[in-house]
Amino acid sequence: MSLIVHKYGGTSMGSVERIQNVARRVAKWHEAGHQVVVVPSAMSGETNRLLGLAKEISPQPDARELDMLASTGEQASSSLLAMALISQGVPARSYTGWQVPVRTDSSFTKARIKSIDDARIRSDLESGRVVIVTGFQGIDDDGNITTLGRGGSDTSAVAVAAAMGAAECLIFTDVDGVYTTDPRVVPEARRMSVISFEEMMEMASLGSKVLQIRSVEFAGKYRVPVRVLSSLTDPLIPLEEEMASGTLITFEEDQKMEAAVVSGIAFSRDEAKVTLLAVPDTPGVAYSILGPVAAANIDVDMILQNQSVQGTTDFSFTVNRNDFARTLDLLNNQIGPAVGAGQIVSDDKVCKVSIVGIGMRSHVGVASLMFRTLSEEGINIQMISTSEIKTSVIINDKYMELAVRALHKAFGLDSENGQVAKP
Ligand code: ADP
Ligand code: ASP
Ligand code: MG
Repeated sequence: MSLIVHKYGGTSMGSVERIQNVARRVAKWHEAGHQVVVVPSAMSGETNRLLGLAKEISPQPDARELDMLASTGEQASSSLLAMALISQGVPARSYTGWQVPVRTDSSFTKARIKSIDDARIRSDLESGRVVIVTGFQGIDDDGNITTLGRGGSDTSAVAVAAAMGAAECLIFTDVDGVYTTDPRVVPEARRMSVISFEEMMEMASLGSKVLQIRSVEFAGKYRVPVRVLSSLTDPLIPLEEEMASGTLITFEEDQKMEAAVVSGIAFSRDEAKVTLLAVPDTPGVAYSILGPVAAANIDVDMILQNQSVQGTTDFSFTVNRNDFARTLDLLNNQIGPAVGAGQIVSDDKVCKVSIVGIGMRSHVGVASLMFRTLSEEGINIQMISTSEIKTSVIINDKYMELAVRALHKAFGLDSENGQVAKP
């Protein structure tokens, strides 16, 4: 008998029938003798609906109130799941984040989990109940409800699994695992039966929405075995079969993984680029530009400073598209005049496409195959950033899907044994 955490995403909880299927699957695990904690997301579309209502009331709604509102989606789906289980004869109880409590910091709409008190969950499990804990939410030290950012139920689930020392955290979703890239964009994408923790970190941070990045961070920090698998299979498939399905995030890298030059392609459309032209090339200029940006709580991603010509240089950086308007405002009204920039130009029609693979550590020429592939498609690269196991480029967003498909093919990911494509 083990303690297992299940997480079900929005599509998996998307209708009464789907919730009843989730209950059947959970009942199967419970009846096999496991202790089960379930972390559901809101029913699909519900979080968007709530945030849309808020936007109708105010273009920039108060962040605390947004969390009060958005957290209700998970409260509704969790209680429906508890009712479905009870009506199938399985004792179950649901709790909101604040009832557990899941303690977070006070960064409304993107709070971080600090601790989870598992006493109540444990005592229910010990009395034979399935325990349901709302995803996506917690409570800060002042008693305010907080939410963990979009996709945050993944993080709730892994954090509960970490806090309780669960044997495994199963992330049930609408795909049957982690693929070489988003299968909605590249139908030839293939499921990986295992992915290294490091690669999953990169994929998630570079835009693969299959797991929220913080959930992967938690998995790494507390060594939680995490498996991504489908919630859309027959809920009564044998446990052994289910346990072996999907994609396991592994902390052990084997030679086969190293042999794959590139394991996956990630992309993100949430990008925007700004450039300050003709800034004086003097010590401290990067700080004068990026200091106020950081102080405004805006995350900067890629940074590019050109060779100076006649004492001035061009300085570009990218931010999340949600922060674009604020960044431009800051540049035009504060930073630009302060550093004496010639002109400020911007582009919010850019995207980031990245190749990821631990094999990149030991293979040379990987980035050059990426650049060649993009040039053969006539795609201009605007910025490049590399690390040990990834190369990312910023390109015009109208070429995003073309770039992803071309790279997927060029690195041999379209075919079963193509993973060793040599640049
Ligand atoms: P949930 O509601 O279950 O949390 P999400 O929509 O957040 O589901 O995440 C699952 C989606 O992630 C898939 O439907 C898929 O389109 C997308 N996705 C992006 N990149 C990948 C990838 N590399 N592998 C699998 N799915 C991916
Ligand atoms: N319901 C939240 C969202 O849509 C959290 C989640 O689904 O993980 O972002
Ligand atoms: Mg998700």
